[in-house]
Amino acid sequence: MHSSGARELQTEAILSPYDGARVGDMPVCSAQDIERSIGRAQAAYEVMRKLPRFARADILARAAEILRRRREEFARLIAAEAGKPLYDARGEVSRATFNLSNAAAEARRFGGEEVPLDMDAGVFEYQTTDSEGRAVSLDRLDLEALAKIRRRVGIARRYPIGIVLAIAPFNFPLNLVLHKVAPALAVGNSVVLKPAPQTPLTSRLLQEVLAEAGLPDGALEVCHCPVPLAEAMVRDERFAMVSFTGSAKVGWHIKDIAGRKKVALELGGNGAVIVAEDADLDYAAARCVRGGVVYGGQYCIGVQRILVHRSVAARFTELLVEKVKACKVGNPMEEGIDVGPVIDEKAAIRIQSWVDEAVSQGARLLCGGKRERAVVLPTVLTDTRPGMKVEDDEIFGPVLTVNAYDGFEEAVQRAADSRYGLQGGLFTQDLRRAFRAIEDWEVGGLMINDVPIYRIDNMPFGGWKESGFGREGTRYAMEEMSDIRHLVVNYA
Ligand code: NAD
Repeated sequence: MHSSGARELQTEAILSPYDGARVGDMPVCSAQDIERSIGRAQAAYEVMRKLPRFARADILARAAEILRRRREEFARLIAAEAGKPLYDARGEVSRATFNLSNAAAEARRFGGEEVPLDMDAGVFEYQTTDSEGRAVSLDRLDLEALAKIRRRVGIARRYPIGIVLAIAPFNFPLNLVLHKVAPALAVGNSVVLKPAPQTPLTSRLLQEVLAEAGLPDGALEVCHCPVPLAEAMVRDERFAMVSFTGSAKVGWHIKDIAGRKKVALELGGNGAVIVAEDADLDYAAARCVRGGVVYGGQYCIGVQRILVHRSVAARFTELLVEKVKACKVGNPMEEGIDVGPVIDEKAAIRIQSWVDEAVSQGARLLCGGKRERAVVLPTVLTDTRPGMKVEDDEIFGPVLTVNAYDGFEEAVQRAADSRYGLQGGLFTQDLRRAFRAIEDWEVGGLMINDVPIYRIDNMPFGGWKESGFGREGTRYAMEEMSDIRHLVVNYA
C-alpha cells in the first residue's frame, strides 16, 4: 500500500463475522497517507492516459489470468472476511475474472464515433429548392459550395477523466470493487479505492495482483480509512468522479456533497418477484431461495417480496418453505454451507427486530425467525403488508415475504410500489406479461423466469428511483467514467 515513509502505519485487525477469528491486519490511512495516495494517483493518471489501448488491455488481461490462478486464495479470503459461503465466494472470483477480461476486450475497442456534420447546411444556408419551393435540378447545384459543407468531419472521442474515487460495500469485496476499478483503468483513469471497513483485505490482495500484472504505480491506491476521511475525499475537487456502491442513505448523501464531480450510485432495493399461475413452481421456488436466502440475503438485488397467484399460492409456499428449511446453515468456511452469518451481530439484531415487529403487526412466521450471534435463520413470512419494514425497506438479510395476488395488473402494481427500483423478477410462460410488466415497473432490469439476483457483468446495471444514479456493467461504466471531446475538422 505505501512504499515509503519512516512512520509506522497503524493497522487494524480484520475479524471473521462468523466466529470473530482474526483474518488479517490492514493498515489504516491517516489524512497524510491519503494526501500521498492522491498525489501518486495524480502522477499515475499522467501515465495511464498516455497508454495506448492495447497496453491497458494487456494489463487487465494479465490480471484476469493471475486471478484465475489464485482463485482459491481469493475465495477463502472473501469467505473469511465477508462470511460468504465458500461456493458463493468461488463464484464471485470467477465473475471477477470475467469482469477483468471483459474490461480488457472493451479497452481495445472502446472509442467514440463519427458525427455527421452535413446533416444540415447550417450557417451556409444552402438551399436545394428555389424560391417557389421546387427542387433545384442536379445540373444547377453548386457542387463547390456543397463540398465546403460536406468536407467537415466530426469525431466524438472519449477521453479518461482523471482520478476516480471508488467507494465499495462489504458484500462483494472483489467483484463490486472491480465493477469500478476495471472500467476506470480500461479507459485510462487512475483510482483511489476506499474499501468497506469489514472487507479491506481482498482489495489489498487485488492491488497486489494488478501490480504484478504491470499496472503503473499509483494507478490503484487502496485507502482503508475512517468515514470522515472518506467524506473529505468525496468533497475533494481533485477527484473527477465518485463511484459509490452501498446503501441509499449514504449514497444520496454523497451526491449532495460531491460538488462538481461526476457521481455514480449503485444502491439498495427490496426486490420483488411475481410468480404467475403458469410458472414452473418448483423452479421458481428454488430460484427465490437462491436469490433471497443464500449468503444471508445480502444482495442488493436479492429477493425480498414474493407475490404469487392465489390459485397456486398454497403449493408454491409449501415448496418455498421446504427449500428454505433445507438450506444448510453454518460456518461459511465449510464446504456445502448455504447460509453463513450476516456481516455482524448488529445487522443480525436489526433483521431479527424487523421480523419480530412484522409478527407483532399481524404477519405470520412460516419458518426461521431466530438468530444465533450473527447467524439469522432463513425466514419466511406471510400476511405482510405495506407499512411494515419487511415490505417497505431493504432488509438485507435472509428473510422472504410471500403473499397472494388475484389479478396480474394488481401484482405488477404491488411489485412496483416501492421507493426502490433495482431489479425485479417474473415467472410466467406468457411473454405478453413480460412486456406489459416492464411498461409500469420502474426497475433497472426485469428478469423473466428468473429472480432479480441474476447478473452477468457486462449487463447494463443500475437502479431507478432511490436505487441509484447512472449505470455499471463494463461498457456502460466506461461511458460514465470517460467524457467526450468533439474534434471537428474542416478539410474543404
Ligand atoms: P454502506 O452504505 O454502509 O457503506 C458503503 C461504503 O460507504 C463503505 O465503504 C462505507 O465505509 C462508506 N461510507 C459510509 N458512510 C460514508 C460517508 N459519509 N462518506 C463516504 N463513505 C462512506 O453499505 P454496506 O453496508 O457496506 O453495503 C450494503 C448496502 O450496499 C446495501 O444497501 C446494498 O443494497 C448496497 N449494495 C448495492 C449494490 C448495487 O450494485 N446496487 C451492490 C452491493 C451492495
